[in-house]
Amino acid sequence: MRAAVAYEANAPLRIEDVDIATPASREVLVKLMASGVCHSDWHILKGEWGNALFPAILGHEGAGVVESVGNEVTRLKPGDHVILSWRTSCGVCEMCQRGYPALCMASPISASKPRLAGSDQVLGAAAGLGTFAGYALVPEIAGVLIDAEIPFAQAALLGCGVMTGVGAAINTAQVRPGSTCAVFGCGGVGLNVIQGCALAGADVIIAVDTLDNKLEMSRTFGATHLVNASRGDAVQQILDLTGGLGVHYAFEAIGLVPGPFLQSVLCTRRRGVTTWVGHAPLNTPVTIDARALMQEKTIMASMYGSARPHIDFPRLLNLYRDGKLKLDELITRRFELADVNEAFEVLKRGEVARSVLDLQSVD
Ligand SMILES: [Zn+2]
Ligand SMILES: [Zn+2]
Repeated sequence: MRAAVAYEANAPLRIEDVDIATPASREVLVKLMASGVCHSDWHILKGEWGNALFPAILGHEGAGVVESVGNEVTRLKPGDHVILSWRTSCGVCEMCQRGYPALCMASPISASKPRLAGSDQVLGAAAGLGTFAGYALVPEIAGVLIDAEIPFAQAALLGCGVMTGVGAAINTAQVRPGSTCAVFGCGGVGLNVIQGCALAGADVIIAVDTLDNKLEMSRTFGATHLVNASRGDAVQQILDLTGGLGVHYAFEAIGLVPGPFLQSVLCTRRRGVTTWVGHAPLNTPVTIDARALMQEKTIMASMYGSARPHIDFPRLLNLYRDGKLKLDELITRRFELADVNEAFEVLKRGEVARSVLDLQSVD
């Protein structure tokens, strides 16, 4: 197959011929049709999470068609359409049994890794998937069955950005009807936090960003007020919009930048909850005046939107079919696999909600 390989930090991806194994007992080989280009891949590419993964196939937001299955696979068959979940779960550890499979302590992974064609060079795969490629070999649990009429590009986005953002609002923070929310960062994840708050019935949803084009985009997803953090103190602007009280729920969806993170704590009201969504570079200390928390405030993190993929993906697709979840509007640009570096350029410039790679012509 063809795949986009990252050899080192801060260097363009290269399109290579790659060998991928046939499925072992409980694995499935998925012919990838579409992959979103998520910020997390950009963080990996910048070397923010260390260099252990390189060389690697990036991409972890994919959808496609099951090509073949291992002999112990019972739930999927060739021809099935699937969204890939990047957090697999064992089903039996404490966190799985408590209903938090995104926090599974024994995530199954594929037995064999892809290799450069004609070489012994083993390649890593982002989040165990590596969706910037023609195929992915994954544990059966990673394939979430969907209806064949759902378009692949829209389906792919559920695999990370939509689940992470919407899930942070409805699963992790459990936003209540009539509440007030502030969302810091209006990228692919932040826009989905905003629509998660809207789905949960929030009354006031304040979008916070430094780019006016992203703030305007956020209206489509349910933002009721816009705060440009480069024009005046964001916390004060949020207090002004909430009668001096602050919000019930704040979300940091930037990737843990200490300044906005602190603002997302300071802008909540008494007993307010701040949810940090996404990832941080290695070694990101945050210093906070402990008194800022004294009014019974909570800070928590959301991992993959507290996803239960086999429950949440079908539910979210039902909402999409009913016109309540916006997926079409997230797709700003589409690229061929060969143009993956350009997709990162437009992401870097903050021009897109999401770019999608079309992978059909890959193999
Ligand atoms: Zn992602
Ligand atoms: Zn588990």
